Amino acid sequence: MVDLLDKYKPLLERMHAVEQAGSRIGPVNERLLSPTRAIINGRDTILAGTNNYMGVTFERECVEAGKKALEEFGTGTTGSRIANGSYAMHEELERELASFLGMKQCIVFSTGYQANLGMMAGLAGPRDTIFLDADSHSSIYDGCTLSGAKLVRFRHNDPADLDKRLTRMENDGGGRLVVLEGIYSMLGDRAPLAEFVEVKKKHGFQLLVDEAHSFGVLGPNGCGLADEAGLMDEADFIVGTFSKSIGAIGGFGASNHPMFETLRYASKPYMFTASPSPASIATATAAVRLLKREPQRRDRLQANSARLFHGLKGLGLQLGCDTVSPVIAVKCEDETSTLVMWNQLLEAGVYVNIALPPGTPGKLCLLRCSVSAAHTDEEIDRIIALFSSVVASRNRVAAAV
Ligand code: PMP
Repeated sequence: MVDLLDKYKPLLERMHAVEQAGSRIGPVNERLLSPTRAIINGRDTILAGTNNYMGVTFERECVEAGKKALEEFGTGTTGSRIANGSYAMHEELERELASFLGMKQCIVFSTGYQANLGMMAGLAGPRDTIFLDADSHSSIYDGCTLSGAKLVRFRHNDPADLDKRLTRMENDGGGRLVVLEGIYSMLGDRAPLAEFVEVKKKHGFQLLVDEAHSFGVLGPNGCGLADEAGLMDEADFIVGTFSKSIGAIGGFGASNHPMFETLRYASKPYMFTASPSPASIATATAAVRLLKREPQRRDRLQANSARLFHGLKGLGLQLGCDTVSPVIAVKCEDETSTLVMWNQLLEAGVYVNIALPPGTPGKLCLLRCSVSAAHTDEEIDRIIALFSSVVASRNRVAAAV
């Protein structure tokens, strides 16, 4: 008999190596003190890897809305949207999001991951082709697999490469969907949307933008990269998640397409799973309203992001990209030094994400920071100071060897 878990032996060795370095991937938050601080390993720690971009997780009105929904509608919906799981509040959130985005329709999914599965497998089928940026998130790749569509990868953020691949492909009579991300989650760079739109005009395809890290963050109305670029009309479909700027759990797809509603009866990740719980929906609705009312949070996030970006760059660190965004990745030499630095940072009182291959583009080893509008200047400066001391100790070790 072949033990199905045998294939994970190399992974087990890697897990042991991490433990031996004194780390635990995904340390436990023992207590949350605020959107930017938690007790980890008994220590008061600054959180710089939460995706809590707008810092809304402890906002009174969001917490109260969640409590009220729990009291009035119970702990879970116990069914999918096409059975017993559609509540008035799901539809209310869909209307709220559509209005926020200035789009006609919106469908809420149970997570952001499922929003990508549901949108892509709902939109494309085996006769269609999906063109993916090579650095796409796992949920986008999995959505493509689930759809059964042909997959064509183009070079990351390279409209000319997409153009070339579209030109090369013969017209096979199927639909063509191109998928981009607003802000790429690992390196923090944005898709060059205007250039991709030129390729769209030349070849004619439908465009989906995953605004997971940019919804609520970019653009004059906070709708994401398409809003920032003034190209909302060119995005045929927008995907977003509640797990970042909204501070809850769930996801959505939005569109102006007149037949968009058919996805509710064609998309398995929408149909065959329980709908998001009342508390999640109520807190998400409260957060969307809050973001609409308080655009100054975006300015604060931008200022905080610029402060951390320039601070880390000033230390001579190699960052993931040249533009300021709330995702700021520090490139490290190799897996071992990344683990050591990550541990030292955690012990000194700052939590950042550790990102290692194969989950990273170009096999990079990264210490990924995400900035929040709720960080204070002092917290940002402390993060920079701790990076500085960790880098200094690394340089001392290197000099001694
Ligand atoms: N899309 C992208 C680009 C993401 O980075 C993520 C999660 N990090 C998702 C989708 C999935 O979102 P969720 O965690 O809400 O399922």
